[in-house]
Amino acid sequence: MGTNGSGWFWSWKRPPASPAKLTELANLIHLMRGFVLISVADRWTWVAHDSGVFSVFSLKSFIQPAPQSARNYMLTWNNWVPKKVCLLAWRADKDRLPTRVGLARRSIQVPTILCVFCGEADETSEHLFVSCSFAQSVWQLITQWCKVSSIYAFGFRDLLVLHWYSRIPKKKMKAFHAIILKAIWCIWRMRNDMVFNRKPPSLANVIGSIKVLSLLWVKNMVKERSITSSQWRAFDVFNG
Ligand SMILES: [Zn+2]
Repeated sequence: MGTNGSGWFWSWKRPPASPAKLTELANLIHLMRGFVLISVADRWTWVAHDSGVFSVFSLKSFIQPAPQSARNYMLTWNNWVPKKVCLLAWRADKDRLPTRVGLARRSIQVPTILCVFCGEADETSEHLFVSCSFAQSVWQLITQWCKVSSIYAFGFRDLLVLHWYSRIPKKKMKAFHAIILKAIWCIWRMRNDMVFNRKPPSLANVIGSIKVLSLLWVKNMVKERSITSSQWRAFDVFNG
């Protein structure tokens, strides 16, 4: 594969022919959209520091630059989202959601404790919202939308403190926090739709709901009625 400045060209040993391979190719082209290849040697870059050079100090600052550490974290209620949304995040943080593992722990019979989305790991809050491939795709799309660094979450609580590390203006950070809380809400709602209504999960639907509902809340709860849908879709709001 290479680029000639106006698009990609391919040197196939054997061109992809099956639907699965063609789908993979389409996904690859989608992921490469916006990337420009230049003719310099590949190198590793440490994204947590502007210099691109790794150091233990920058790692420490990356993990703990905020006023309080995740370990001592008390859930910050965000009044730009309904209370039920904050409450769901609080329950997930305390591991009090009726996930399949949560139900089994309370001796409630469940057909399986495997994740409803991927079927590859036990359905705990941490898996459902952090390590599941479905959730990871949601976070990836949200970081692209909000133009913040990729999300590195190792536990559920990391999601609740992500906005601290976003390096964006204060009000925009609060909007980003509201979007994360909204995403947690939408992932849980989609999970319930799948369990109770056998509705297949859809990444496009969940991202669509997050964008539409979060704009509605911001417009009504923050009284920012002048924000347009196209500004919100570009996350071109509260720029300082
Ligand atoms: Zn999963």
